Amino acid sequence: MSTFQAPKGTYDLIPPRSANFLAVRDAISAPLKNSGYGYIETPGFEDVALFSRGVGESTDIVSKEMYAFETKGGDKLALRPEGTASVLRAALEANLHKAGNLPVKLWYSGSYYRYEKPQAGRYRHFSQVGAEAIGTEDPALDAELIILADQAYRSLGLRQFRILLNSLGDKECRPVYREALQTFLRDLELDEETRRRIEINPLRVLDDKRPDVQKQLTGAPMLRDFLCDACKAYHEEVRDLLTAAGVVYEDDEKLVRGLDYYTRTTFEFVHDGLGSQSAVGGGGRYDGLSEMIGGPSLPSAGWALGVDRTVLALEAEGIELGIPATTSVYAVPLGDEARRVLFGLVTELRKAGIATDFAFGGRGLKGAMKNANRSGARYTIVAGERDLAEGAVQLKDMESGDQEPVALDALVATVQAKLA
Ligand code: ATP
Ligand code: MG
Repeated sequence: MSTFQAPKGTYDLIPPRSANFLAVRDAISAPLKNSGYGYIETPGFEDVALFSRGVGESTDIVSKEMYAFETKGGDKLALRPEGTASVLRAALEANLHKAGNLPVKLWYSGSYYRYEKPQAGRYRHFSQVGAEAIGTEDPALDAELIILADQAYRSLGLRQFRILLNSLGDKECRPVYREALQTFLRDLELDEETRRRIEINPLRVLDDKRPDVQKQLTGAPMLRDFLCDACKAYHEEVRDLLTAAGVVYEDDEKLVRGLDYYTRTTFEFVHDGLGSQSAVGGGGRYDGLSEMIGGPSLPSAGWALGVDRTVLALEAEGIELGIPATTSVYAVPLGDEARRVLFGLVTELRKAGIATDFAFGGRGLKGAMKNANRSGARYTIVAGERDLAEGAVQLKDMESGDQEPVALDALVATVQAKLA
């Protein structure tokens, strides 16, 4: 062990488990790639003001969890705590909303940073795959996003997840509700910090996990009763489209989510095998965000799914992804001449798309065969001077133990046929 360890709240993805992370990213992005979403990648850090404006000063993410710093040149930056603000910033900067069809549909995959109290499923560095559909207000778009996330989770074999759905209203009806809620909350017995929250972000109080707070919330005005007709009709249509698509969801009128920019449709995917860090992903509509960061009015919707928690969910359900062994063929040379010949064959096999590895380091046969076994390879090629003199190598089937000589120039085709 070295003197160094991964920083608190972080961990390394190492084989073989790391393969699950790649598979989860692939599974989440596949339905997006299949539905008109283009790949976008933005920097790992941004102007800190993008997040304080875009995510909101009153959120935990900005007020407590952000890695903000000043560079030697005096720039005030922050490691990105989430993806939406950056993606919208990039889309606006590149004028994507003017260049082609709306909505602009984008997907991303990357690392995010939040200074949180580390615990199972909650880290300071984690990864998300996300989707954003920018510039269109259409209930079918909200439904599409939820359907694609549902499809992604199902394709991984996950079953113990639930979709929670709510509407947060819009700039017409939410302010009226906000005031009604504030009036109710101000009469409760709450600590200083929560009282402050009533004034800056009262909806978040509904999200308070403490039982004594939850008990006092009985009888609080509910947003559902304040939704304007347009928001009601919009929400009904999202629900109808989901039902028609066979997507099962639960109405959760207390679902508010931590970010300021959400309007109307809001949803969360929760997994029942994860204990208290149960949210595997979430998202919704954010019609006001573009204007908050200085852009034109661009009603939009999106989601982000947490890769770390999705992997934990797979483990909780005992799902094996059936990821094939990374190596199909392992080459074991006996002697210097065989080393040169087999190394050449390894390159040829790889060019033919066959996952191949080589016994590096010139160890003896026994050690090399042990490595071949550990690699999970189905076939081993062994060759010494006598084989080469005959223009052949020994091809060993690691499952049956059978071994046969194969001519050098027939090796690639033979292995290909056997693996097919
Ligand atoms: P939570 O309520 O668990 O704090 P959140 O509302 O802060 O979640 P979002 O900002 O919506 O989460 O991020 C979307 C997803 O990213 C979450 O559902 C979760 O899977 C993942 N995620 C968020 N924060 C973390 C973290 N600190 N560690 C691991 N995954 C995270
Ligand atoms: Mg959080």
